[in-house]
Amino acid sequence: MSSQTEPQTDDRSLVIASNNAGKLREFRSLLEPLGLSVSSQADHAISAVEETGLTFVENALLKARAASAGSGLPALADDSGLAVEALGGAPGIYSARYAGEPSDDEANNRKLLEAMSEVPEGYRGARYHCVLVHLRHPEDPVPIIVHCDWAGEILSLPRGEGGFGYDPLFWLPEQGMSVAELTPALKNRLSHRGRALATLVERLRTS
Ligand code: IMP
Repeated sequence: MSSQTEPQTDDRSLVIASNNAGKLREFRSLLEPLGLSVSSQADHAISAVEETGLTFVENALLKARAASAGSGLPALADDSGLAVEALGGAPGIYSARYAGEPSDDEANNRKLLEAMSEVPEGYRGARYHCVLVHLRHPEDPVPIIVHCDWAGEILSLPRGEGGFGYDPLFWLPEQGMSVAELTPALKNRLSHRGRALATLVERLRTS
């Protein structure tokens, strides 16, 4: 139960601390059917924070705190990225800006293909990571934090038109498809973000 001194919040409204259209689409499709009223940080004219953390957790906390402070609403932030084994975990927390700023999915994918051009089959393993942070208010001392990952392999050529970011290069051996070839519903069911969100929603429901 909340302490009496904590700010009261509207627990059906949530601001998503992201301007990434692909992520916002995925969050809306998962949260709106639950009756949550979802807005983006752009709806509240909140600018993106500088991601100065060295971990997904630190960056997600920074984003959630800024979005909650700027909107007066509970906030949900995701910090996510791709960690490639043959590249020592790169691009990792720098996934969005791998090929420089502003963030450009096509340039990032070209850079990844180039970096992996000499890496043979069997050594092309990678994981998507997603950390979600939910804050009831900017000074919430007990954020809900969830981490999920998703294992796959890096392709040598892009496949598929769906998803966003590195999805055309992320091969799922069990499905025999790239993530960009999955339907949005299947991506939501399998993905690092979809499973993290399902866990977080359950934690919110029972907290
Ligand atoms: P963030 O917005 O700072 O968390 O950066 C996340 C970046 O990681 C995105 O811009 C993508 O490059 C990559 N990424 C994270 N999740 C996904 C995904 O589901 N598909 C493709 N790329 C992803």
